[in-house]
Amino acid sequence: MAEKIKLTFLGTGSAIPTARRNHLAMLLQYKAETILIDCGEGAQRQFRKAKLNPCKITKILISHWHGDHILGLPGLLQTLNLNGYNGDLTIYGPKGSKTEFKEKISPYLNFYWKTSKQQGNQFNIIVKEIDEDIIFENDDFSIKSAEMDHGCPTVAYSFTTKKKNRLDKTKLAKLKLPNSPLIGELIKGKTVKINGKKINGKNLMYTEPQKKVTFILDTKINDNAINLAKESDLLISEATHSADEQETAEKYGHLTSVDAAKIAKKAKAKKLALIHLSQRYDEIPKIISNEAKKVFSNVIVPEDLDRLEL
Ligand SMILES: [Zn+2]
Ligand SMILES: [Zn+2]
Repeated sequence: MAEKIKLTFLGTGSAIPTARRNHLAMLLQYKAETILIDCGEGAQRQFRKAKLNPCKITKILISHWHGDHILGLPGLLQTLNLNGYNGDLTIYGPKGSKTEFKEKISPYLNFYWKTSKQQGNQFNIIVKEIDEDIIFENDDFSIKSAEMDHGCPTVAYSFTTKKKNRLDKTKLAKLKLPNSPLIGELIKGKTVKINGKKINGKNLMYTEPQKKVTFILDTKINDNAINLAKESDLLISEATHSADEQETAEKYGHLTSVDAAKIAKKAKAKKLALIHLSQRYDEIPKIISNEAKKVFSNVIVPEDLDRLEL
């Protein structure tokens, strides 16, 4: 079976948190990778509620440095330190991230880490300011970013797995083959003879399809968002405002429910998840989803700690 992308909506709220919605944070797990997208205040407690271990984080992607997206960082990093986080941790963010980190986060860490010398391992944090396009790539997936329009340096991210031919390990195990260097040839899709039995490697292979998730956080509607989200299996987008508040949305550099749905439609995404709802719609998310559904049918409004797999 193909490995799935697992998403956990740790926080789905906007600038002001509510009892129902924490500040923004999302977690993407795929194979050995655990990527945190934004880290609003209280994100580390949401990990606990979701029974997830923050020490498994391999990368942090920051959309921009407004408080509701980053104020969870000092506490989270402090916890990782106390729990003996292993290795270096890279935080990706838009232009200016190095200064933002130095001014907004480092003072806390200097204080905590100096006063807890016996406890933590004081791991290395690398802050990478990213340009547009692919910011990370390996054999299994790539992460791309694009500049958004929010009045301060802001980026959106997409995560795309690679289409791959893979060996079906269950099928291979059923053949009960003895250890042989010829198994390596099977994996290449070749036909080999083991114990007098002719086995076609191609019959043991399956194609893992490409999957794409795009994260559009705070921004006005713009073409980069549509291009980045092209053919996403899942587009996770902010929808701070209702369609009635178009003017306010534009003034503060945010999307309305209908803006987000337009991006999903133009990008030919398969599914749209709306987050970063203003506290006005906290108890009535249906207003936001119903408006969006008039433009794009496959819409969900996740609650905190909801999970999705694709
Ligand atoms: Zn925000
Ligand atoms: Zn913002």
